[in-house]
Amino acid sequence: MTDLRSLLPEELETLLRDMGEPSYRAKQLFSWLTKGAASFDELKNLPKSLREKLAEQTTISALKCLRKQTSAADGTVKYLWELPDGNAVETVVMRYEHGATVCISSQVGCRMGCAFCASAIGGLVRNLTAGEMLGEVLFSQLDYGEKISNVVLMGIGEPLDNYDEVLRFLRLVNCPEGLNIGMRHISLSTCGLTERIADLAKEDLQLTLAISLHAPDDETRSRLMPANRGRGVAQVLQSCQDYFAATGRRITFEYAMIDGVNDSPEQARQLARLARQAKAHVNLIPLNHVAERAFQPSRPERMREFCQILEREGANYTIRRSLGGDVDASCGQLRRKRELARAGEEADAAC
Ligand code: SAH
Repeated sequence: MTDLRSLLPEELETLLRDMGEPSYRAKQLFSWLTKGAASFDELKNLPKSLREKLAEQTTISALKCLRKQTSAADGTVKYLWELPDGNAVETVVMRYEHGATVCISSQVGCRMGCAFCASAIGGLVRNLTAGEMLGEVLFSQLDYGEKISNVVLMGIGEPLDNYDEVLRFLRLVNCPEGLNIGMRHISLSTCGLTERIADLAKEDLQLTLAISLHAPDDETRSRLMPANRGRGVAQVLQSCQDYFAATGRRITFEYAMIDGVNDSPEQARQLARLARQAKAHVNLIPLNHVAERAFQPSRPERMREFCQILEREGANYTIRRSLGGDVDASCGQLRRKRELARAGEEADAAC
């Protein structure tokens, strides 16, 4: 059945027109959905007969909060949402100077298999629909009690592996009659699916593209990120250059610093060269240790030396402020805990 939350205003209009309804009904309906309506009974100013007709033919997806954790250190809030089919995904709301930022998941699980990431452990279960992704923003905003001003697609999943629904989500969240979040306030992070980056460049959206680079050389990158195999750093670099040429939007390189794996002086020099070539900004992230993974974050003195080289070599970089460390805010960790709890290996309290 069609999920009304996945439909754009013009599609709601067509749906209602086909039911013999005037176009203002579509506006009323979209407005209710944007307010977080989760059932047909909540569509107060719609006639009962129409609500019944809609309920027969469509659904309204809603997310149920299974767990909410608030960081005592910085107020970061992490939600574990239950989807209509019982699966669960994580959403994080962080506070920055420029407003509240929501980090959403794009898939249940992930099939990219990155060696340091908690989301990859159980593989991919399914794609999220556009309506479910919109629900992450909407229901987080309602609970958080403050307007969300920025969206980052950096939670569970590979957004470009769920291309069509992610594009639909972007259009929905961008709707002036809806949440009205501008493309310049949206970042999309990818492990580097070069074919899809080329498709995205053609959409000419003003969003920020972040590439999870994590290593500048193929040997290390292919070991850490299976998606690098068959593509290679050179191809990823080329797609970044093409993306920049097509959109004029500066790319970000995400680089999680892993002790003894990708933090050598030579790798710093290689990374600086790539960043200069792609005109990219480097975002250094101290690795979040994941219980099931052997990797450790780089030591502070190693990170300092790495930064000095980036600076000397003329690369733009920042060290990402780590928020929510006390609420498992690294992607996939909370969902993973729930899976373990379901398997009876660990007790976990629902909210
Ligand atoms: N699939 C997308 C987005 C999801 S992950 C991508 O690969 O970009 C969001 C970011 O967190 C990615 O840069 C990812 O590589 C990074 N990440 C995953 N596990 C991490 C960990 N344990 N520590 C630090 N960053 C991690």
